Amino acid sequence: MGTLQRALLLSTGISPHLEALVMRGGRLGVAEMPAHVGVLVHSEQGVVLFDTGFAPRLRRAVRPFPDLLYPVLVPWRDGRSAVSQLPDYGICAREVRHVFVSHLHPDHVAGLRDFPNATFHLSPEAWLALRDARGLARVVAAWMPQLLPEDFGARVRWIDRFTGPALGAFPATCDLFGDGTLRAVPLPGHAPGQLGLLADGGDKGRLLFAADAAWLSRAVRERRSPSRLSDRLTWSPAARDLTLERLNKLWWEDADTRILLTHCPEHRVGELW
Ligand SMILES: [Zn+2]
Repeated sequence: MGTLQRALLLSTGISPHLEALVMRGGRLGVAEMPAHVGVLVHSEQGVVLFDTGFAPRLRRAVRPFPDLLYPVLVPWRDGRSAVSQLPDYGICAREVRHVFVSHLHPDHVAGLRDFPNATFHLSPEAWLALRDARGLARVVAAWMPQLLPEDFGARVRWIDRFTGPALGAFPATCDLFGDGTLRAVPLPGHAPGQLGLLADGGDKGRLLFAADAAWLSRAVRERRSPSRLSDRLTWSPAARDLTLERLNKLWWEDADTRILLTHCPEHRVGELW
């Protein structure tokens, strides 16, 4: 039985967005939104990443048409990539044995190629819904297969058996390593097959990496969906709103579980525990 020994949060770049767009009732000012990466050190499974954030190769990937439309929808300023920050914490890329991929949007997968020893954990729905998208439909779905390593398919472990215990109003989870330390939680809506990751550090506390289920913590606390304008870029607004309702309940009813959103500027980066 393994344990989680350490948890870190990194920021890999900043996306400026109108707050009123990312949250109904938000300001008409700009919210500076980071792209976080979670780092978990497991006693037996090694280093596990939650997503990989921005990486310099994304700039190159968006030069040709139609991908050059992506920065129009999601502008960003580059920060330091996850792979370049890990040595600050005594971790090297080769030690990363697992990457949990919440969903396949570029700001979550641009760093996948930096971790050659990692197995990729993701939902088959995330892959099946996007793999045949072409042209403008592909850009609107924010799908850039060129960011994935050539051997991606051979390194995938699909998360598709949700037989683990419920988490609040979320009916079931999937235990990644069979020891209860890391459990996948379905967070559908924002993107097909989006998954969150519940990290149980025992006495150190529980963290729910909730990806893009909401963009701001205030949106979770006050149950505020993104603006209707952004619904066009949302996989299923109805599923997103149900996910938000469940997260909101968890926020108010489970003080032991800290909810971490990929893009919320309220979260402090560095050592979590
Ligand atoms: Zn996303």
